[in-house]
Amino acid sequence: MKSENIFLRGIPASPGITVGEALFFISAEYPITHKLLHTKEVATEIERFEQACERTRMEVEEIKKKLSQEVGNEHARFLDAQILLLEDRIIEETKDIIKRKKLSAESSFQLTTEKFLRTLEKIENPYLRERIIDVKDVRSRLLKNLAGHPSSLPELSERVIIIAHRLTPSDTAEMRKDNLLGFATDLGGKTSHTSIMARALEIPAVVGVENLTTTVEDGDTVIIDGRKGIVVVNPDESTLRTYEAEKIRYEQLVSQLCALKDLPTTTVDGHTIELSANIEFTEEIKSVKSHGAEGIGLFRTEFIFLIKDGEPSEDEQFNFYKNVVDSIYPKPVIIRTVDLGGDKLYPGEKIEESNPFLGWRAIRSSLDKKDQFKTQLKAILRTTSKRNVKIMFPMISTVEEVKMAKEILESVKQDLRKRGTSFDEGIEVGVMVEIPSAAILAPVLAKEVDFFSIGSNDLTQYTLAVDRGNKLVANLYDHLHPAVLRLIRMVIDEAHKNNIWVGVCGEMASDPLAVPVLIGLGVDELSTSPSMLLQTKDIIRSLSMKEAKEIVKKVFYLNTVVEIREHMKKDIRKRLPHLSETLACD
Ligand code: PEP
Ligand code: MG
Repeated sequence: MKSENIFLRGIPASPGITVGEALFFISAEYPITHKLLHTKEVATEIERFEQACERTRMEVEEIKKKLSQEVGNEHARFLDAQILLLEDRIIEETKDIIKRKKLSAESSFQLTTEKFLRTLEKIENPYLRERIIDVKDVRSRLLKNLAGHPSSLPELSERVIIIAHRLTPSDTAEMRKDNLLGFATDLGGKTSHTSIMARALEIPAVVGVENLTTTVEDGDTVIIDGRKGIVVVNPDESTLRTYEAEKIRYEQLVSQLCALKDLPTTTVDGHTIELSANIEFTEEIKSVKSHGAEGIGLFRTEFIFLIKDGEPSEDEQFNFYKNVVDSIYPKPVIIRTVDLGGDKLYPGEKIEESNPFLGWRAIRSSLDKKDQFKTQLKAILRTTSKRNVKIMFPMISTVEEVKMAKEILESVKQDLRKRGTSFDEGIEVGVMVEIPSAAILAPVLAKEVDFFSIGSNDLTQYTLAVDRGNKLVANLYDHLHPAVLRLIRMVIDEAHKNNIWVGVCGEMASDPLAVPVLIGLGVDELSTSPSMLLQTKDIIRSLSMKEAKEIVKKVFYLNTVVEIREHMKKDIRKRLPHLSETLACD
């Protein structure tokens, strides 16, 4: 029986309301249901398997063709191994298991590939070990085809709501507004990169939804309320009407905020804050401009590394960065060096870490992979001749890391001078303060750099020892935690004592309850996803510095997140009733 008018709760990941038809998207890690067959079902099962193999082969061939045209044959050649696998003995063995053990095609294929993977894992030869990735990739594609689900988002022919167990950052790399109404997932947190991507693209999304994939079925009507973190499955008439009215109200507020686009980000008593945008890929520039950003406060550069098999070349990176730098000029762009690791794994790289977020991530791996780091720095420096670019290093935890990164930057500058390539000799260099040790070392770090940008997503995760993407502990994750606020106050004060500016580029910079606190603490810049810029501007323009300082006094007197949130909710309800109602500040 169909579920009716079921309300499921999750974590609000990206604002907006949307209604549409559900489509299951199976990510590689989706659990497989094992099924035993009747003798009479065996022949059809083998046929179903053969058809899925054929479809997979055609898909891989198609991708290979497209890749060859776009980036050249040599980049597409890695797919030959996958095509070979589809003609390999794995296929024959799978059919044999379906016949002998009467297991479903999914289970049989899983069994043969697991056996094959175990053999490959024991082999030392690096070329053969590479095939592990091919086997896994082709396996997930074939399993998706067996289930009759689309294997990649851009293939969607109608606008649908994606329902998934989880979406990986590379799944979301394929998201586009024209094929997606919204999405909901079983797993994920508000600051996981999947959620950040959804906000950047203005796609309503709810993550970490209890019982989502066990309740929703393909074709169900679903409402996604990305402001409140609610998913309604097969809504009744009255629920549909309520949500349609709320959708209109929300859209009205969005257009009301548009009127602020060209107004300054200044408090009532004339204190100006720089309001910038966070971006990850070029498609976002349009939204950055339409929301009136004063620059780009965080250009995440992982995307170009995530979409490619193998490291992008200096020229490929240069073109990617230059596109952004030129389209934003004369406004400034802060390019952050690559932050791979954690939940953003380099495709093809097999790193086994029991705590990846505490491991070989960001600047740590950049400093170890010196050549790759130098290539990126060279590509960035080449974009700086118009002097609107700054460089920022992520995940700094010691002063030695900053010194080493700066030394490498110097050597790259030297190389460019030798090459006769011009760049901004006075380029500003900053660090992200997102690890408690960096916050505590702020007085020392401030002497090494031109600016700080507080990464509140990681600073919260590492200060509270709460995984930012784990819904089991999502209730403990809060950037308004008094310990986080104390660290932020220290960082801002130390930056100012040392005459450098300080921004916040984590999600906190657009939390309506946190913005007045950050202003009162004296932050110089806020950088938010493009869709949150105008709402943040509205809050800043409603405040005086005097009020913001009063708020800080009160908040620092409170010792728990609950008290701080309650206090801030009351404040925003009083000052900005239109925002608190429509944006679901609760
Ligand atoms: C942060 O940690 O707050 C941040 C902005 O970096 P990212 O979300 O990319 O880790
Ligand atoms: Mg971070």
